[in-house]
Amino acid sequence: MTRIASHRGGTLEFGDSTPHGFRQSALLALEELEFDVHPTCDGAIMVHHDPTLDGTTDRSGAIVEMSEAEVRKAVINYSGGEHPLSLPELCTIYGDSQVDFRCEIKPDGDGFAYPDFVPKVIETLRSQNMLQRTVFSSFLMASLDELAVATERPRLWLVSPAVLRQLGQAALIELCRSHEVPEIGVHVDSADAALMAQVQDAGLEFGVWAAHDASQLNKAFELGVKVLTCDRPSLAIELRRRFAADKQEDE
Ligand code: FE
Repeated sequence: MTRIASHRGGTLEFGDSTPHGFRQSALLALEELEFDVHPTCDGAIMVHHDPTLDGTTDRSGAIVEMSEAEVRKAVINYSGGEHPLSLPELCTIYGDSQVDFRCEIKPDGDGFAYPDFVPKVIETLRSQNMLQRTVFSSFLMASLDELAVATERPRLWLVSPAVLRQLGQAALIELCRSHEVPEIGVHVDSADAALMAQVQDAGLEFGVWAAHDASQLNKAFELGVKVLTCDRPSLAIELRRRFAADKQEDE
């Protein structure tokens, strides 16, 4: 059965990267919490999607140029007045949860990997006893390379529609081989049975991201992808339940 990852703590259900969304996702009947991390200027790791606070809070500025205390002053939109969490705080919420982590290593605002960031993320997860429950993702091959050096934990490459078009399937698979990346995730609208078969025939695992509405979710379940990310986790759970029930009826 396709795994469900609550994307940014279920953005369309609970707000984008909100503490409430993270607490709720920890209680749901799904497998993974997807979240994104950025460093502060004083060495903290904050859980937030964008590299800046501008788009989803009442403040502005690049997280990497701010202190942890400054980032914490921001009130997240649609959060009921809550503030961004640090990675250790997120780990505390998930200590007793059945839901595991899918941690996305984000680039800075210019699209470059933050220097020396990956080892800090890994060390924090390890010290919080969450590393063995974490898979990693990134759009950046540089970050995936850093992850391979720093940990044995699974990692997957997020392939954007533009990169998929520009590389083509053969070059994509070749790049995965040369960087020893065992899994890719593509936008759900880029996914089809032929692409999935070609990726799987090459020995790679195949998942999708941004499956947010019913038709996208059902497509992912019908394809039988390994994992999907979704901004509406409760909808994904319900549609997966129905899909499994229909399948059982057919058998
Ligand atoms: Fe993400």
